[in-house]
Amino acid sequence: MVSRVIPVDPFDLVVFGGTGDLARRKILPALFRRYCAGQMPEGSRIIGAARTDLDAASYRTLAAQAIRDHGGGRACEDGTLDRFLGIVDYVTTDAQGDQGWPDLARLLTKDLVRAFYLSVGPGLFGDIAQRIRAHGLANGQSRIVVEKPFGHDLASARDLNRTLATHFEEGQVYRIDHYLGKETVQNLMAVRFGNMLFEPLWNSQYVDHIQITVAETVGVGGREDYYDRAGAMRDMMQNHLMQLLCLIAMEPPARFEPDPVRDEKLKVIRALDPVEPHHIVRGQYDPGGEGPGYREEVGRPRSTTESYVALKAHVSNWRWSGTPFYLRTGKRLVARSSVINVVFKDAPHSIFGPEAGRHANILSIRLQPNEGITLHVTIKEPGPGGMRLTEVPLDMSFAKALGPDGQDPPDAYERLIMDVIRGNQTLFMRGDEVEAAWAWVDPIIAGWQKRGEVPKPYDAASTGPLDADQLMRRDKRAWRGIKP
Ligand code: NAD
Repeated sequence: MVSRVIPVDPFDLVVFGGTGDLARRKILPALFRRYCAGQMPEGSRIIGAARTDLDAASYRTLAAQAIRDHGGGRACEDGTLDRFLGIVDYVTTDAQGDQGWPDLARLLTKDLVRAFYLSVGPGLFGDIAQRIRAHGLANGQSRIVVEKPFGHDLASARDLNRTLATHFEEGQVYRIDHYLGKETVQNLMAVRFGNMLFEPLWNSQYVDHIQITVAETVGVGGREDYYDRAGAMRDMMQNHLMQLLCLIAMEPPARFEPDPVRDEKLKVIRALDPVEPHHIVRGQYDPGGEGPGYREEVGRPRSTTESYVALKAHVSNWRWSGTPFYLRTGKRLVARSSVINVVFKDAPHSIFGPEAGRHANILSIRLQPNEGITLHVTIKEPGPGGMRLTEVPLDMSFAKALGPDGQDPPDAYERLIMDVIRGNQTLFMRGDEVEAAWAWVDPIIAGWQKRGEVPKPYDAASTGPLDADQLMRRDKRAWRGIKP
């Protein structure tokens, strides 16, 4: 199936931090792929802005290299890349001074959509937002995009929200959580709210529990300082996993529009009970395979930052009362895999007797890799050996079922940046959502600090600390395997 490409309106996109790691690995390649897909109309421009002293030609060379290194594909060689570079410009700009701002203002085209992507540390958000206003860069069609982490606790997130609100309306602020741009995450809503099949069963009467796993094989390499200050709870749980939890647990919004969707997500976060200390496991990886242990990798032999966290959460409302949500995320685990498993209850009575065996239905939603959905159903074990039951997967890989001529679907950054240009905030976090998520997470972290808790060690390339298995076993449940 070939996906439809609907061109956006012409735009100017200014990428502050345009020479940085995120711009080179994600933003520039994503923009190039949308250009190749024909989604950017004539007259659109991409302007890198950063402290690095470069002229436009050198920036184009940097951008071309970034695109070749990080997924430009065939189009790099057929002249498309050169045409794309024709819409790329650069201005050396100091976020905390006046250098570059008048030049930047001169480059922008009157009346076009203007998007300002802040691919810089959060410490610069206020400086940049203030200078965008002061130098007259904002017009009626301006949007500002900010990257995670959005604060490191409730107080700092509030400060950031207040700072942004001084210069921009909430309807102009796009807080990126790139998980929300993944094809399968949106499919989660399509599966839930586009089918009659699942929604009647989507509650505590039929769902035994839900597991959300985001497992990485990589360590913290390259981001040691940031990560050691953040840990898995702030880096992954507060944003990506909580967003997935919201999409699984929320009530159907009246319309698939920004505020109705975000209102429902916010209600889920506000319905979360505080987490009991014995319902959380923190972990930190030991050396293993070729790799160093966490402490060695961050160069802090006494670090007590967690590289793994698992917890049991309860959403206290009519739909979910009594159905636990088990969430886990960690680095240097056995496989890279992000998956949501909705585990249904056993049939109330087995007509086949105890020897036949029982298998709960499970709906597995794979976010990465191999995005797709599997429904595990119970059938008769083949053969003449009597009535024994077994579980088989009804498996759908999106790439196989829907991939346009074998190409991958657009990645999260491609979709999200195009949504920014269109002015659609549905897949972006609202300020009150982020604050509510911190309000739930802060007491957990404060509890660890107060009790002086140290993370449990786990072997690199394992499924995490044994205590996380115990968390499930205590409830007579088990994690589904972490498979690539
Ligand atoms: P980076 O350090 O590689 O790049 C920072 C960029 O900001 C550079 O272009 C630099 O020139 C520019 N900059 C710094 N100080 C400046 C100043 N005073 N004036 C003008 N420009 C200045 O950082 P990064 O990894 O690209 O991350 C950027 C943001 O994105 C951070 O907030 C980070 O947390 C977030 N983020 C990064 C990743 C990632 O994979 N790299 C993933 C998620 C979120």
